[in-house]
Amino acid sequence: MATGRLTERDPAADYRRDRRRLVERLRDRGVSDLAVLHAFDSVPRHAFVPDVMRARAYEDVPLPIGRGQTISSPTIHALSLEYAEIRPGHRVLEVGTGAGFQTALLAALGAAVYSIERIASLYEAAARRLDRLGVDARLMHGDGSRGWPKHAPFQAIIVGAAAARPPEALFRQLADGGRLIVPVGTRRQELRRYTRRGDDFARETITGARFVPLIQDGPRGEGPE
Ligand code: SAH
Repeated sequence: MATGRLTERDPAADYRRDRRRLVERLRDRGVSDLAVLHAFDSVPRHAFVPDVMRARAYEDVPLPIGRGQTISSPTIHALSLEYAEIRPGHRVLEVGTGAGFQTALLAALGAAVYSIERIASLYEAAARRLDRLGVDARLMHGDGSRGWPKHAPFQAIIVGAAAARPPEALFRQLADGGRLIVPVGTRRQELRRYTRRGDDFARETITGARFVPLIQDGPRGEGPE
């Protein structure tokens, strides 16, 4: 009915408007890297959350993605990306693909993306989703705490799950000058950045955080404090 059409919601326009608002909020929260803000404006977060959560896709909150896992809040993803200083052509390792939202942000930033997910069903769903959206990234099902030695060294490594100590392999696979963004702690956690200078790793705290635990299979090599 022609008259009905005028009052119908246009979900695409609603999502666009919500996305704009989210970008404003990220700016208010101190995210200043324009490329990161632009990536948030271009990647449809609603395509990465379960259907029943779509109305909340552009709120600045973590959301469940199944198997007890969550997609981090937009602020956490934005800070991780800003501190990782992603530039086009950088080789970037992501540990914990989850729904693949941050994977898509990394690709939008022009990185060569390598992403590892431990849970097979999440890995498969993310692979299908990213393929459908035309996102270019190399994905692997496995334990990301061992890194991906074949493609190292990485200019940046971003870990989406927390351990008491960051896995040692990730420090080894960081390029000189490279940045490791990792949540550390069990109950009380902080998101840290380690920057490699030769064999030294300068440590900074980005913010307090609450991530799901990192699942580690084998013997745990642990890195510096
Ligand atoms: N940033 C993601 C969400 C990360 S949630 C997104 O945008 O959706 C953290 C993810 O890390 C979960 O999917 C969990 O299954 C995964 N994970 C936990 N331990 C892991 C490990 N050792 N290796 C790879 N992935 C792991």
